[in-house]
Amino acid sequence: MKIDHIAIVVKDLDATLKLYTETLGFYPVYRETIEDQGVEAVGLQAGESIIELLRPLDETSGIAKYRGDAETKLHHTAYRVDNIEAKLAELKAKGVRLIDEHPRNGAHGNRIAFLHPKSTEGVLIELCQPRST
Ligand code: ZN
Repeated sequence: MKIDHIAIVVKDLDATLKLYTETLGFYPVYRETIEDQGVEAVGLQAGESIIELLRPLDETSGIAKYRGDAETKLHHTAYRVDNIEAKLAELKAKGVRLIDEHPRNGAHGNRIAFLHPKSTEGVLIELCQPRST
C-alpha cells in the first residue's frame, strides 16, 4: 500500500501553511472544511502523497485535546487502497479493531476508515480509497 497522506493537527493553520508553502515549498491542492471530522483541512502535494494539515473547528474537540499545547502534532498516516470495504473485512477477520466498520467521507471526496490505535501499536491508521477509483 502506498501512503495516501500524512495528517498533522495544527493550532495555527495559516502560520503552519506559510511554513509548508513559502519556506518548505509545497503547494496546496485543496482546502476544505470536513464537518464529519470537525476539521478544516489543507492538502499539500508531496510527490505522489499529500501532507494534510488539520485545524480543529472546535478547540474542545477530541482532536484538539490530542494536539494539546503543541503547535503541531502528527495525527495519522493514511494508506491508499483500491477496495476499502474488502480491506476492512480482511483486517477485521485478522482481528484488527476498527473505529469505522463502514467507510465515511474524507477530504477531497475520498472514502476513508480509521483503524483503532489499540490494534496498530498506538499509531492512528486510516485507509483511504481515492474518489477516482
Ligand atoms: Zn486522513
